[in-house]
Amino acid sequence: MDLYEHQARELFEEHGIPVPRAEITDSPKEAREIARRLGGRVVVKAQVKTGGRGKAGGVKLAADPAAAELTARQILGMDIKGHTVGKVMLAQPVDIDSEFYVSYVLDRAAGRFLAIASAEGGMEIEEVAACRPETVARILVDPVEGVTSAKAAEIADAAGLPPRTVDVLVRLWQVLVREDALLVEVNPLVRTRRGDILALDGKVTLDDNARFRQARWGDGPQEHHDPLEVEAAARGLNYVKLDGEVGVIGNGAGLVMSTLDVVAGSGARPADFLDIGGGASARIMADGLSVILSDPAVKSVFVNVFGGITACDAVADGIVSAVDSIRLTKPLVVRLDGNNAARGRAILRDRAHPLVEQVTTMDGAARRAAELARTA
Ligand code: GDP
Ligand code: MN
Repeated sequence: MDLYEHQARELFEEHGIPVPRAEITDSPKEAREIARRLGGRVVVKAQVKTGGRGKAGGVKLAADPAAAELTARQILGMDIKGHTVGKVMLAQPVDIDSEFYVSYVLDRAAGRFLAIASAEGGMEIEEVAACRPETVARILVDPVEGVTSAKAAEIADAAGLPPRTVDVLVRLWQVLVREDALLVEVNPLVRTRRGDILALDGKVTLDDNARFRQARWGDGPQEHHDPLEVEAAARGLNYVKLDGEVGVIGNGAGLVMSTLDVVAGSGARPADFLDIGGGASARIMADGLSVILSDPAVKSVFVNVFGGITACDAVADGIVSAVDSIRLTKPLVVRLDGNNAARGRAILRDRAHPLVEQVTTMDGAARRAAELARTA
């Protein structure tokens, strides 16, 4: 789960990382009050879980409380890369001398954390890494040893950050460990004209496996932006919208992932994926199918099920009552294997729906679904 900037700021503050004074609101009137409390001049910042807000017009300086109200009114409701701004943070402005970049991110391949730091902060790090890779330091951090003062000094030195950032680097590691984060990023970390080091923008991604002990951030569902994802989430389905033309339904994340691969291998592109998990009840099937069929990009659907605890006959029953309860408008290719596969196949054969086809192998079914999508 990604946190909002103001939540990241709160964590930084709790762990002793210097941050500007700031408050959040969803009301322009209150923005004026906050600006007055903060001394008049403020930076008004859109709270959305995406970067590049500055470039998109979501970070603006307001000279006084009246301007803060006006600016807040402009930014609230704004669309930034598909995210609607519901809240703004008002922060005391800072006189920036230099901007740096620092982050810790899990490096799964290395089985370590990776510290990334650069004296060229402010811009998006991908851009810096592409244009001036020599300015970006990458140092592996042993998760057991962590970032000690010595390690922090090594990181600061490699990136050419001033020695005063060492304390922040150590504390940022503590944020990562104590808050169960997979990523902590400060961009920019700034040196002010007075020489103070301040975290001006923060991004924190928490490990969802630790949700049970991070209850303060809410247990709510992940943010969904695609309307179909919103609908699927409301029905309790694991659905992700992609940009191809073959709808994919499977049981279990592993099978669904390899289904995406075989669809791609057949020359088509998956339009989405839906993991029906262990429960392939008629209701889940009907809900899943209606979400997938309502996507105009979907030309054919590939249902790939390996019967385990939920046996194939139960899945077949689910498919039959789903196609009987919704109007099937697109071809369905079904591959059933595993527990009770023969009975499941017989159920579908007996129903003999003109738009439902069965193929017994995964590759064959993927090729057929791709072919149907092409000729649709
Ligand atoms: P992002 O665009 O979503 O990464 O939002 P940031 O919070 O990082 O803001 C973008 C840029 O706005 C920063 O890199 C700074 O250059 C500038 N900025 C943000 N806050 C302040 C501030 O208090 N004072 C000044 N002078 N610039 C700021
Ligand atoms: Mn930033």
